[in-house]
Amino acid sequence: MGCRYNSRVGEIDVKELLSCWDVIAARIKEAEHILLLIDYDGTLTPIVERPELANLPPQAKECLQELAESPRLTLGIISGRSVENLRGKVGIKGIIYVGNHGLEIEGPGITYVNPVARKTKPFLHSLCRDIGKELTGIKGAIIEDKGLTLSLHYRLVDESRVEELNRIFFEITKPLTASGRIKVSKGKKVYEVRPAVDWNKGKAIAFIAQNFNWEGETLMIFLGDDITDYDGFRMVDDSGGISIYVGEGDTETVAQYLLHSTKETYQFLNMLRKALKPKGN
Ligand SMILES: [Mg+2]
Repeated sequence: MGCRYNSRVGEIDVKELLSCWDVIAARIKEAEHILLLIDYDGTLTPIVERPELANLPPQAKECLQELAESPRLTLGIISGRSVENLRGKVGIKGIIYVGNHGLEIEGPGITYVNPVARKTKPFLHSLCRDIGKELTGIKGAIIEDKGLTLSLHYRLVDESRVEELNRIFFEITKPLTASGRIKVSKGKKVYEVRPAVDWNKGKAIAFIAQNFNWEGETLMIFLGDDITDYDGFRMVDDSGGISIYVGEGDTETVAQYLLHSTKETYQFLNMLRKALKPKGN
């Protein structure tokens, strides 16, 4: 069976991953080593109203655990959450955790915190308090201090008050983005505030690839669902890896392959797990 292209994406060559399994399976079979990096929210767990409620289903965790144990594969979970929060959510030992959009990385034998981000931490902490104070009147606004970055979630804010939230938020942040102190990006009903450093998920992935010395050639596979993952897709594409967008494909999709939902993510991971099993098991 041939690979199906996603019709909604139009001219961009985005393939429906599950219809291309044979092609991917062949590359997995060939690869000496696989670096599998997966975003958390929206990729491994469906987007929920409150970020603390996004939990990994037990079967998915089991599957990840098994993948992590495969001698030919290194697993990393990558997220806008802090490493501490992410580790608590995923709960698998001995894998790589990439937090705060790549600003912090922890794994077997590796600890990295972006030096500029480390210095900006106290400033972001007080900024978080200031924004929180100004937004106290807006019900449903959740401001999250993640150490090196902060998030303003507005999924629970009534539609009629989003404009006001935007006004307050940008009144505070605009002068700081203009002076090069911080960067603001928009995700799915969330604003992310980060120190203004030239660092992103793509650079974090490159850092991981350089700092671990795996035997043989490494095939990188990266799954993500949001704008902050695009740098990761580009990095993985440039290295000859496999980039996978999870969600309903649209013209912004920049990955090679598409999975429609987190359910399809689990399906893919399960297929990968089976493909990596030594023969006879
Ligand atoms: Mg995500």
